[in-house]
Amino acid sequence: MSSPERSRIPLAARWFPLRRRITLTVYLTVLLALAVGLAATAMTQVTRAHFDDLMALEDAFAAVRSYRTGVDSMQFDAHRFVASNHASGADQVTRTYAALRQSLSDCLERRCAGTGSGERLALLLEHLDGFNDAFSEAVEQRLALVDAIDTQFASALSRVRNLLPDTGELAPDAPGAEAFYAIRQHVQSIENATGALLYTADVLPYGDLMAEFDGARSALAQLHDTAPMHFRAELEAALAALEDVQAKLLQRSRAYLFLVNVVMAADAHEMQVLADRLEQQIAQSIDQARDRIEHTLERYSVALILLLLCGSLIVLVTGRIMAHGVTEQIRALTRTFTELTAGSEAPITFRSPHNDEIGELTRAAIRFRDANAEIHDLLRRYQALNESLESKIAERTRALENSNRELERLANTDRLTGVYNRRALSDALDHELARCRRYDRPCSMLFLDVDHFKRINDRYGHEVGDRILVAIAREVSKVLRVNDMFGRWGGEEFLVLNPETGGEGMEYFAERIRRHVAAIDFAPVGHVTLSIGIAQFSCGDTVSTLVERADKALYRAKAEGRNRCVLAPAPAAAPASRKMAEPKNG
Ligand code: GH3
Ligand code: MG
Ligand code: MG
Repeated sequence: MSSPERSRIPLAARWFPLRRRITLTVYLTVLLALAVGLAATAMTQVTRAHFDDLMALEDAFAAVRSYRTGVDSMQFDAHRFVASNHASGADQVTRTYAALRQSLSDCLERRCAGTGSGERLALLLEHLDGFNDAFSEAVEQRLALVDAIDTQFASALSRVRNLLPDTGELAPDAPGAEAFYAIRQHVQSIENATGALLYTADVLPYGDLMAEFDGARSALAQLHDTAPMHFRAELEAALAALEDVQAKLLQRSRAYLFLVNVVMAADAHEMQVLADRLEQQIAQSIDQARDRIEHTLERYSVALILLLLCGSLIVLVTGRIMAHGVTEQIRALTRTFTELTAGSEAPITFRSPHNDEIGELTRAAIRFRDANAEIHDLLRRYQALNESLESKIAERTRALENSNRELERLANTDRLTGVYNRRALSDALDHELARCRRYDRPCSMLFLDVDHFKRINDRYGHEVGDRILVAIAREVSKVLRVNDMFGRWGGEEFLVLNPETGGEGMEYFAERIRRHVAAIDFAPVGHVTLSIGIAQFSCGDTVSTLVERADKALYRAKAEGRNRCVLAPAPAAAPASRKMAEPKNG
């Protein structure tokens, strides 16, 4: 293949055969689809993981918030138990603690609050446990306090009260009554204040108790005049025992209130602070997770769009190159076949690589073109041959027709004189008589005979006799009308057939011929005369009867002296023939 031809072949066609090009295009398309699918799957998975993180963080945020609520609730329930002695409050604290601990442990285990939150969660758990431990301790302390009030304080109190006289037995104006009343009043205040220990978290009222004891002792001192010594000492001892119990109660109460007011409150506060920070941290993590999702989606979207664009471009360019390699050559082949159909025999110049299907098609086109050219060549040769044969046949036909015409002419022409011969005259007579019979038309015939012709022969010789016959025929022909038929019947006898002529017209015409010939000087013979027998066609005539009647009329003309015209009588009523004699040469 020459290099210009080679350069016209698309690059793809030179590299790959058609089936490989199609396979490659499909393969590229499938690869692109796979790449897009993989990218989309990766994007979905990464985005989903980020979404899962976000959901976990939001769950953690909600959990921390509920944790704060739980801490509030624990504090409230603990206060309810401490201030109102509601046992349900303690139970509620225990339940809330268990739920919060479980939730925190789970979150810690699952790292639900994001990275860096484990330490805070552990601290939260620690404080929660601290709160619970303090509350448990406080509950125990409170039970012990209640027990001490019910047993030790009640016993010491009843000892004091038993020593004091009954207010109903004591007259108001009795000696020492006022002091007794005062002592009883102070003891009642001490009892009331001690009972109040179980319903307050405040330690300040305990300070007032000392004043109550001091007041009771002052009132007791007022009895040194009215009450016996041992009584005062015993009351003094009972009051001291009560004060001692009261001090112990106060001590226990302070420890209990320390747990409630300091330890538990500190833990609760720490938990609140930690929960606040954790909440902020989770909120930041949530924002970061959202940013990450947005970022990922943006990045993957751009990557996916770029992949789609580049891939589509590659597939499009590849497909176009491949298709171009096919369509260009198919177009060229279509043009070639169109030109071949139009009869072109121009050689097919383009070629395809040997391994290309289009190349096979092109080679088939070339074979088709070669076969077509051969067929065209054969057809042209056949047409030329045919035309030559036709022209030869036409020429031969013309020659044959000419020959036939010449033959017919010769067959109907007298060789000597050149006028019709007897055969032609007979045919014409047959035809004319049939016509006259069919259409009932008139028709006549003249039978001409040269007078004494034998003498001419004898005197001038046959050759002169022939020339005279030719001259007579020529002269008679000059007189003839368009439709008249004139010929030599034989020897020196001639016949004229006159269609559409009858009666007198016929006689006149015969006379004209006779006169014309008689007037001619036929050198070297001189004047020659004619005898003419005239017969008119009548129904029932045949050629022979008509000729016979004309011949008879001629015979009469001869008999009557020659150089004359005699009309034969009609066959049926044979009227007497009219003699039309003319003087010789007249
Ligand atoms: P008549 O007036 O009675 O007709 O006398 P005739 O001499 O013409 O009659 P006839 O029939 O006896 O003679 C005809 C002669 O014509 C006889 C023959 O030799 C001659 N003849 C016939 N045909 C030809 C021909 O072709 N050429 C020549 N030169 N003579 C011919
Ligand atoms: Mg004769
Ligand atoms: Mg004669």
